[in-house]
Amino acid sequence: MKNILVTGGLGFIGSHTVVELLENGYDVIIVDNLSNSSIDIVDRIKKITKKDFKFYKDDVCNLNALNNIFSSNKIDAVIHFAGYKAVGESVKKPIMYYENNLISTLHLCEVMKKYNCNKLIFSSSATVYGNPEKLPLTEDCKVGGTTNPYGTSKLMIEKILKDITISDGEFTPIVLRYFNPIGAHKSGLIGEKPNGIPNNLMPYIVRVATGELKELNIFGDDYETSDGTGVRDYIHVVDLAKGHIKALEKAFNTTGIHYYNLGTGHGYSVLDMVKAFERVNNVKIPYKIVGRRSGDIASCYADCTLAMKELGWHAELGLDDMMKDSYNFIIFQNKK
Ligand code: NAD
Ligand code: UDP
Repeated sequence: MKNILVTGGLGFIGSHTVVELLENGYDVIIVDNLSNSSIDIVDRIKKITKKDFKFYKDDVCNLNALNNIFSSNKIDAVIHFAGYKAVGESVKKPIMYYENNLISTLHLCEVMKKYNCNKLIFSSSATVYGNPEKLPLTEDCKVGGTTNPYGTSKLMIEKILKDITISDGEFTPIVLRYFNPIGAHKSGLIGEKPNGIPNNLMPYIVRVATGELKELNIFGDDYETSDGTGVRDYIHVVDLAKGHIKALEKAFNTTGIHYYNLGTGHGYSVLDMVKAFERVNNVKIPYKIVGRRSGDIASCYADCTLAMKELGWHAELGLDDMMKDSYNFIIFQNKK
């Protein structure tokens, strides 16, 4: 039985990945400082899986805490989700973002090396491609040109991981570049519930559907896309979580650094998303077109051939599942 340390394991993607890990027979240790999650997720994961795991409420930037976790457990691999992720906030608080995202990763790598733990799965993002040089994006496309500290922190971490790999032939980072994760677990017990007014499209649509927000503001209808609104590659979070299991299997059978896009390969516009949500959930989403959001790109979607070829992974759930599960989660939460 392999022991996997999951940093940020109570967050949106982390919690779904922990469910998949437990259901695939891995032992799990979570470390999370609850900066963007809550302790009740521990019980919810246990309720879904009927399995137990260890939880440490600690900051991954804290070297002593990491040393304690590694000295008390034999850890075979780490999945590193912990970090801040709000693009807009990162522009306002760059020091906080660079500090949390970079220091957590540096300290984690330092302690992994000390305890001879070499397998790391890292949460990167399609944002590292900046304005795409071509579509669909393949892993060998140029990276850089990030437009905010959040994206730049991901790019810097990718470079750091590469440099460590050059210095240490045993170190095996698998860099997963996520496209746009949405949806929730079918149980309605775990999902994404951002504090305050959501920045991302899907959480915003859901809040309009429940009546908590009046209407959706669509940021621009004059892009060079089929209907003028922005196009993204939305992926169900459960599919994304399953990608981490495949990445782990790969990590245990290889060395060196590897990069994979995790998306569906399909681009949908904002209006496609609104219409799909209305159709699947039978609710109206009032919207108005407003100006473009600064830093937005027109289109971004993945070529996921490499993940299929080397990990044996592809996304299985479609847009209808994403719409249904996102709404189901919020209805379930609001009932409680
Ligand atoms: P999330 O905020 O829901 O989860 C992150 C978790 O990490 C939270 O539970 C938070 O409490 C914890 N955390 C943050 N800093 C920590 C620290 N220093 N020590 C311990 N715990 C800490 O985010 P998510 O959507 O699940 O994203 C997970 C990872 O994937 C992040 O690194 C994010 O940047 C990356 N990512 C997310 C998306 C997305 O759209 N959700 C897209 C691309 C990449
Ligand atoms: N979007 C929008 N209104 C919103 C939030 C997002 O029109 O309230 C658009 C945004 O301009 C982009 C798409 O929806 O074209 C996805 O945005 P999101 O922030 O979810 O993801 P990202 O842009 O980071 O890929």
